[in-house]
Amino acid sequence: MKTAQTLSAFDVALTSLPNGEHRYHYRLDGDFFGLFEASLIKKADIEVDCTLFRQGNRMDVRVLSKGAMDLPCDRCLEPLAWPVEDESVLVVQLTEAPAESNDEILYLPLGETRLNLAHYFYENIHLHLPLRAVCGESGLPCQAPSNFEALSEGAASKTPATDQTDPRWEQLKQINFS
Ligand SMILES: [Zn+2]
Repeated sequence: MKTAQTLSAFDVALTSLPNGEHRYHYRLDGDFFGLFEASLIKKADIEVDCTLFRQGNRMDVRVLSKGAMDLPCDRCLEPLAWPVEDESVLVVQLTEAPAESNDEILYLPLGETRLNLAHYFYENIHLHLPLRAVCGESGLPCQAPSNFEALSEGAASKTPATDQTDPRWEQLKQINFS
């Protein structure tokens, strides 16, 4: 059985949509981002809560996104579960003469039967991609199975001081305290 998402799963039927508030819930995962060839996100788990308020030909869609997306660490290339938390509003206007849409307002022709939110979700999440994603710096632990830096740091700070006592130190101590 195929469970991959389809773009039509993000359609809101407009024809019979009454005025007032409507709630929708979506989940964006790797399959969702896979619907877009240019997606930089391959794996994600983001919950999206939409509150659509319709008043005639205008709809205000408040979009709350929360979850995480996998990004490769810029240093060790291991995946980081980058947190996503965003609130945005998309205004949809049905109009006789649709103008060019932008990030905040989407013009659709009067009589349009469906509003598809997939593209908006996709672009909105991509706007939140960090310029630089590095483990440690971001507060996210490195997932690398063999973290060479951590290993060598541990070796430098522990092994010589505790396990082996350098005889020269013993000599110095005796000089100082006698
Ligand atoms: Zn890393």
